[in-house]
Amino acid sequence: MPPPHRFVADIMLGKLARWLRAMGYDTLYFKFAEDRHLLQLAHVEARTLLTRDARLARLAGAGGLLIHATEVEPQVAEVIECLALHPSGEDFLSRCLECNTRLVDRSKDSARGLVPAYIFARHDRFVGCPGCARIYWQGSHADRMLARLGRMLGLSGPTLSGP
Ligand SMILES: [Zn+2]
Repeated sequence: MPPPHRFVADIMLGKLARWLRAMGYDTLYFKFAEDRHLLQLAHVEARTLLTRDARLARLAGAGGLLIHATEVEPQVAEVIECLALHPSGEDFLSRCLECNTRLVDRSKDSARGLVPAYIFARHDRFVGCPGCARIYWQGSHADRMLARLGRMLGLSGPTLSGP
């Protein structure tokens, strides 16, 4: 198995970055970043630079991927298709959507007082982000994200089996 793909997304691709994180891919994204900083990160950390900017994609050479679609779902499909990715359901929702850190299991007790009381009462499994301290749980929002991921990946269905 090759190591999982890693990404750095340009400032135009914040939504795409979140969905790649939702699939478990290590994806850096900054609201403000200079092109040369993105290029350097892509190079030094062997990340694919995702960009809507043809010039920046050219500068990144083989490490760049120019994204043509403007909407996020076809953007996800483009990335999966162009890089022949095989996202695995086991990795879904394993990474913080806000800061990209890998989530860790938290005991129910440790979530007490940190999540709304009705959430605490209704859920037993919590995961936390060591990076930004957010707490996630398998609620309706997560269910909706998983359903949408399924649909998105269905979009690029024929390529999921790969060459
Ligand atoms: Zn976080």
